[in-house]
Amino acid sequence: MGTHPLGLSIRNISKKYANGVQALHNVTLNVPPGMYGLLGPNGAGKSTLMRTLATLQEPDEGQVFLGDIDVINQKDAVRQTLGYLPQEFGVYPKASAEELLDYFAVLKGLTQRAERRATTEALLRQTNLWDKRKQKLGGYSGGMRQRFGVAVALLGNPKLLIVDEPTAGLDPAERVRFLNLLSELGENSVVILSTHIVEDVSELCTNMAIINQGRILLEAQPLAAVASLRGRIWRQLTDKQALPALEQEHHVISAKLLSGRTLVHVHSPDRPGPRFEPVEPDLEDVYFSAMTGCFAPANQQPNQEE
Ligand code: ADP
Repeated sequence: MGTHPLGLSIRNISKKYANGVQALHNVTLNVPPGMYGLLGPNGAGKSTLMRTLATLQEPDEGQVFLGDIDVINQKDAVRQTLGYLPQEFGVYPKASAEELLDYFAVLKGLTQRAERRATTEALLRQTNLWDKRKQKLGGYSGGMRQRFGVAVALLGNPKLLIVDEPTAGLDPAERVRFLNLLSELGENSVVILSTHIVEDVSELCTNMAIINQGRILLEAQPLAAVASLRGRIWRQLTDKQALPALEQEHHVISAKLLSGRTLVHVHSPDRPGPRFEPVEPDLEDVYFSAMTGCFAPANQQPNQEE
């Protein structure tokens, strides 16, 4: 994948915090326009990378370019075209959505009243909050608050939209609504969605990276990554006590409870034994294969400095 002229190019970013935690190790990613998923467990370094892209903190090393804007050295230029939805979107509980969005629009430089009204109305409709626009934000549900956050983030038509763990606190119905909203964005702008939820990425993203302990384990198109695992994932339904022995013998990528039993997925080029049956792989198998160090498709170079 080459660098797209309107995409985001992240080059060799490293970050160590003052407490000695190396949150990012030499991270390099090419992010084209459209929905991009950054997938990894808690503590992987996702927020550190998102805050760096959002110009809220500096890396120790490396470069980031949005088109030809140097993100680290031209912060004002980035901020004019950036939308950022942090993990916890704090709101003023006593303001209504309409009032607060109007206020943020003024801060974004929309000083003409008629233009501002048209913009805020369009955004409140797009995020499905128009009917609730007069309601105080303190009474909004988690999902409504996140959608309001998207409306704020979209002010000024950003070319780069950063959405950090947006579905973490949402119930299933709110999550679906929120993902549907995000799916309508993209296309012309770079939308980076950081998440620890595999389904967020499989449902939405055309490109993705998997990050763990500050390192990129895989950068791929989800469909291609899933296809490359075909014929290599095997399952066995077993008892919990049998798990340690299976782990000794096989490359177990995941084990989860299913109706009181344990469903084990194993990565293997051939059938690992008579009690295994083949599985049609999904993105979760890609994720766990990468996390357990057995995802190495021929055309992917894991990006590590050692
Ligand atoms: P994620 O968003 O994937 O959960 P983070 O970027 O928040 O990961 O954290 C990556 C690592 O850096 C974790 O070990 C975390 O404890 C540490 N970390 C994050 N922010 C700070 C900070 N401000 N100071 C020190 N350590 C931090």
